[in-house]
Amino acid sequence: MNKNKSMFCLFAALSLLLISSCSMCQSDSYLYSKVKSCSYDAPEEHFDVYVDKFYRDLGVFGIYPVRSAVQIVKFSKMDQIKSLTHINALSCGIDNDELIEIYINPYFWEKAPKALRYWVMYHELAHDVLNISDLSDLPSNNGRLMYPYINTYEITHMDQFIEASHELFDSL
Ligand SMILES: [Zn+2]
Repeated sequence: MNKNKSMFCLFAALSLLLISSCSMCQSDSYLYSKVKSCSYDAPEEHFDVYVDKFYRDLGVFGIYPVRSAVQIVKFSKMDQIKSLTHINALSCGIDNDELIEIYINPYFWEKAPKALRYWVMYHELAHDVLNISDLSDLPSNNGRLMYPYINTYEITHMDQFIEASHELFDSL
């Protein structure tokens, strides 16, 4: 991919505040190379299951995006990268319909309940597959899937994830 055009979505947890945030940074080839160098496959996590379910759910809502030819979903030890130690996940395939490229912090993932894993994965896939940006930081957006801040301890039930993802798909 063209690294200069890559766009990252960073899903961060500020551990003291128990809040996650997601921010975009463009044209950061240094960050991209660091994340890639700290990445590794995690076949036991079956990340493809999340991607397959995402496309299936979109179909239920009558949304049929082009299936990306290249699908990269990996762990990356972001806690070993100075500026990313608080990051949970990031995507860099936005505005590139031929590519899904998502990196997950393994230390976030191993502690995250199922609902939070789905929440973060769908948030990143919405960037990556649907080219949707984060919602603005307004209180009225709190609790929506593309809101850039979440309390990671509040997302504990699958119903929360299902309601938030359906609200997003319904709005498209
Ligand atoms: Zn985001």
